[in-house]
Amino acid sequence: MEFGWSPEQTAHRENVRALLERELPADWDDIAVHGPGSDAQTAFSKIFCKKLADEGLLISHWPKEYGGNDMTVWDQFLMGEELWAAGEPRGPQYMNVNWIGPVLMRYGNEAQKAEYFPQIASGSVIWCQGFSEPSAGSDLASLRTKADKVEGGYLVNGAKIWTSYAGLATHCFLLARTASAGKGAIVILLLDMTSPGVQVKQIPALIGEGDIHEVFFTDVFVPAENLLGEEGQAWEIITFALQNERIGIPRYAFSRRMLDRAAEKLKADGRFENPVVRDRAGRALALCEAARLMVYRVVHQRATKAPQDAYGNLARWAIIQADHAVNDFMTEFMPEGLLGEDQMQIAHHQRAIAAGIASGAAEIQLNLAARRYLDLPSEPRRGL
Ligand SMILES: Cc1cc2nc3c(=O)[nH]c(=O)nc-3n(C[C@H](O)[C@H](O)[C@H](O)COP(=O)(O)OP(=O)(O)OC[C@H]3O[C@@H](n4cnc5c(N)ncnc54)[C@H](O)[C@@H]3O)c2cc1C
Repeated sequence: MEFGWSPEQTAHRENVRALLERELPADWDDIAVHGPGSDAQTAFSKIFCKKLADEGLLISHWPKEYGGNDMTVWDQFLMGEELWAAGEPRGPQYMNVNWIGPVLMRYGNEAQKAEYFPQIASGSVIWCQGFSEPSAGSDLASLRTKADKVEGGYLVNGAKIWTSYAGLATHCFLLARTASAGKGAIVILLLDMTSPGVQVKQIPALIGEGDIHEVFFTDVFVPAENLLGEEGQAWEIITFALQNERIGIPRYAFSRRMLDRAAEKLKADGRFENPVVRDRAGRALALCEAARLMVYRVVHQRATKAPQDAYGNLARWAIIQADHAVNDFMTEFMPEGLLGEDQMQIAHHQRAIAAGIASGAAEIQLNLAARRYLDLPSEPRRGL
């Protein structure tokens, strides 16, 4: 097995680093601490994504026929690591290129591809993910938002919650229940967020400005051509989408940067000599490395087109553990940072708390590994 990077991969990583060096403004860290849903970061992400698009890097891992460059899965991940370590200047658009696009590629029809791909490729749109509801998070199968079949399409009524970036989103990847597809089947609708009857309300949250929202739907008409896949195919599509999302956020890269930064600060004032501090830093570092290597295993599976197994769930669990360990380390040995001195540490602290919940809670990842791959008895509620 080859553990090193090829000269081409090294050159690609250096190219992305050079681009970040060139394009990120001097006050980028001050912008990034507000979070990807903030006005400041979104405004910058539009400029940055346009730049990536111009350089052929925004959707470079997509096939050429859809406007990409056929970049390998590995190159895609190398780039993701660099972008996340830098604070993810793509902002909410990381979702578009990581999983909305690939899902449309596999399940969208030609008209949908023709409509949505050029928009995503140019970096001009923001999608949000309308899955969770007040009583349907881990237990997603109990969602209640209705899509009643009417002439020419569906009429949507209901509410979503915790929807990231909904305040800025132009489109929503919406899950709703419909009677027409059999007993309470779920459909996926590609919703235009400017449709009459859509109301978005921001939820004040510690993870950053403009990040999470409630979205209400009152008699929202969605044309039939905006149905993704077939009625009754939603679980298959969601499972594929979540596989792409689970390891699509290499937060271990940002945690590692925060850990290195913390070690430098502690060294500068002589506190890193303490063996307890070094031991705890070493443990946090080991968890960052474990997360990275577990993610690489999933990347390898994808690159070799091997079937996905429990490693996707376990890798996401490892990413969460790495985030928490780095946060715990900084909280214990650099509490002054949290008391108002260090905005990046505060932002990392706040997002590390949420990291174990968003994209499917940590416990659910373990449940899935236990149920699907170890054949252990199923938990009473269904989770994805
Ligand atoms: C920052 C952030 C951004 C988000 N963005 C989005 C978004 O863009 N779109 C979207 O649709 N959703 C989004 N979510 C919602 C997220 O997917 C849900 O919060 C998550 O799936 C958990 O669901 P819940 O909040 O209903 O909690 P619950 O499902 O009620 O879970 C509460 C706790 O109970 C545990 N638990 C639940 N069931 C089990 C079980 N069977 N076994 C063991 N433990 C269990 C969970 O692990 C968790 O710790 C976001 C959440 C956060 C925090």
